[in-house]
Amino acid sequence: MASIAFIGLGNMGGGMAANLVKAGHGVHAFDLADAALEKAKEQGCVPFTSVREAVQGVDAVVSMLPNGKIVETVYINDVIGHAPVAALLLDCSTIDVDTARMVASAAQNAGYAMVDAPVSGGIAAANGGTLTFMVGGDDAAFARAEPILSAMGKAVIHAGASGAGQAAKICNNMLLGASMVATCETFKLAEKLGLDLQTFYDISSKASGQNWSMTSYCPVPGVGPQSPADNDYQGGFATALMLKDLKLAMAAAQSAGASVPMGEKAETLYAAFDAEGAGGQDFSAIIQTLD
Ligand code: NAD
Repeated sequence: MASIAFIGLGNMGGGMAANLVKAGHGVHAFDLADAALEKAKEQGCVPFTSVREAVQGVDAVVSMLPNGKIVETVYINDVIGHAPVAALLLDCSTIDVDTARMVASAAQNAGYAMVDAPVSGGIAAANGGTLTFMVGGDDAAFARAEPILSAMGKAVIHAGASGAGQAAKICNNMLLGASMVATCETFKLAEKLGLDLQTFYDISSKASGQNWSMTSYCPVPGVGPQSPADNDYQGGFATALMLKDLKLAMAAAQSAGASVPMGEKAETLYAAFDAEGAGGQDFSAIIQTLD
């Protein structure tokens, strides 16, 4: 079993680190927040007081941090040159493609293998070890990453070269954001046209309008499978996180010269919803803003 440093033990990282411990790995934990570190200790991780100390002598470093700026600072200042050069570096945070590529390239130039491995699935999946990982990196790095990530997830998919994991994640979530808004406005129109919403669901879920936001995560309470809509839009995937991913998608589209009018519209609508104070509500609650 490996010795693994885990940096960033928040809502997602806490459960992921605990699953590495359950799989038999020795986990060196570091987080800026004392409460997160204390909780990790209760889960069987060994707490450290800095990134540099946590990465000493490990076989791998896993990070689950809030954004690209923090990932860049942590890796450039405290991981590269401090972890053994044989250690595999895995960043599981959701960050912009350009930063992911830049940090991986700095790591590779210093002799490390690195993958970007963002996740699909929320806090429950992180705790339950059922995340899906989308991995960017070369074949050799992917082969080394797979057994570590498998201890925290149900699926580990090689998306391509460095940055490809982040690219897959934000493309998927841009589609999710746009399809959720489209699903919400469609149900609102159906209601205004006098359709019974369950009847419309029964038709559209078997017709060409079918999509995940409708059939797995219906934004209308009482229609379709159980979803956050049936729990007053609590739990699920927070609006603030959807907005974060849409902003990353817009940055990537600009950097790549891609035209994404539907993604742009979704970003504008989620930014307005978040500004109303709805950042903590499930992203399907945006249906409540539509007339
Ligand atoms: P979080 O804010 O709960 O956790 C982040 C942790 O990182 C915090 O405990 C914070 O103290 C720590 N941290 C910040 N700077 C640090 C530093 N320099 N060194 C060490 N620790 C530091 O966030 P989260 O919900 O766990 O999300 C983490 C990542 O996972 C984000 O990139 C997010 O976009 C992504 N993600 C989250 C979800 C979700 O449902 N929460 C789903 C998919 C992906």
